[in-house]
Amino acid sequence: MERCERREEAGTTCPGCGWPDSEVFEVVSRHMVSTGMMVYTRCPCGRLRARTVTVP
Ligand SMILES: [Zn+2]
Repeated sequence: MERCERREEAGTTCPGCGWPDSEVFEVVSRHMVSTGMMVYTRCPCGRLRARTVTVP
């Protein structure tokens, strides 16, 4: 069985350093898409992450 560590139950964390998705370290860019807003963030480990923020 694989080892599974979960520090944040509510959200996902970076597979590289475990930084929680809910915490924004650095916003690289953001732009509007049909489903809301696409936000590209950079993690403390340098990993680029993309997430979609749904705007009601
Ligand atoms: Zn990271």
